[in-house]
Amino acid sequence: HSKIHGMKYEMYNSDMGHSICKKVILENDIRKGLENKEFYVHYQPQVDAKSNKIIGVEALLRWNHHTKGIISPLEYISLAEETGLIIPIGEMVLREACKQNKTWQEKGYENIKMSVNISIRQLQNNDFVNMVLNILEETKLDPKYLTLEIVETLVAKNMADISAKLNQLKEYGINISIDDFGTGYSSLSYLNDLPINSIKIDRSFVSHSTYNTKDQAIISMIITMAHSLNLSVVAEGVETNQQLEFLRKCGCDFIQGYFTGKPNGPIEIEKNYIQKLEV
Ligand code: C2E
Ligand code: CA
Ligand code: CA
Ligand code: CA
Repeated sequence: HSKIHGMKYEMYNSDMGHSICKKVILENDIRKGLENKEFYVHYQPQVDAKSNKIIGVEALLRWNHHTKGIISPLEYISLAEETGLIIPIGEMVLREACKQNKTWQEKGYENIKMSVNISIRQLQNNDFVNMVLNILEETKLDPKYLTLEIVETLVAKNMADISAKLNQLKEYGINISIDDFGTGYSSLSYLNDLPINSIKIDRSFVSHSTYNTKDQAIISMIITMAHSLNLSVVAEGVETNQQLEFLRKCGCDFIQGYFTGKPNGPIEIEKNYIQKLEV
């Protein structure tokens, strides 16, 4: 072995040690965070593209770490999936979200839909369907107000099992949405095989649509295709009026993004969006 080789080996090893160490700390912090109730839920408005009125919200996980402050889900969701901690976290989010929607309904805001992100790791759990049904029963939320968002990349695997579970949920009236649509490099045949109600066009297409005519073509094609399959379309990550106008012109049904409303706590969302609806 050459010296250089040896050095490389050592560097790799110490890097790896570092990242394993970081993972162990993070995993430990997630466990503690769950115990100490550091996780909570924010809500982002989804508005009707024509009327601009709120039609629903997406529940988004938040973590206020006891020393590090707010940490983005992107920094720990994949580790939570690896370790299985996404099971209790996901259950907490679903319960909070259903409870919140029921609270809004009891105040007379009856037509707000609640979208909740579901990781494939949760779907793979044998107890998943029961968990969802139990939470609906516990919170007394009518299943027709609940939408489960499932990321497209992950939909392609374990098709038979996923399809069976989604069909069960669908029978109860729960809605299924394909998240980050267009990023999964998967065959489109699943759109026919799975009981899907809507798709969410990924933010990457929307943000490029301002200057890239190819992304505009993709968006317009996705919307046309979705409508011909009787699916409704949500565009995510809409940040400008120009993007909104383009999506409207393409017939996009619903809009979600910083331009129409940032994620926020339930009190702010109620005050700034929901209370503006006529009861
Ligand atoms: P996502 O499901 O695609 O959620 C949308 C993300 O885009 C959210 O980031 C939201 O805050 C952000 N966003 C919304 N509008 C805009 C916009 O106009 N511009 C930009 N730049 N961003 C916008 P967030 O909350 O950081 O969540 C990131 C991802 O973490 C989510 O992406 C989702 O994949 C995952 N995630 C969040 N909450 C949960 C959860 O409860 N369960 C699971 N399994 N995953 C979750
Ligand atoms: Ca989502
Ligand atoms: Ca998304
Ligand atoms: Ca996304």
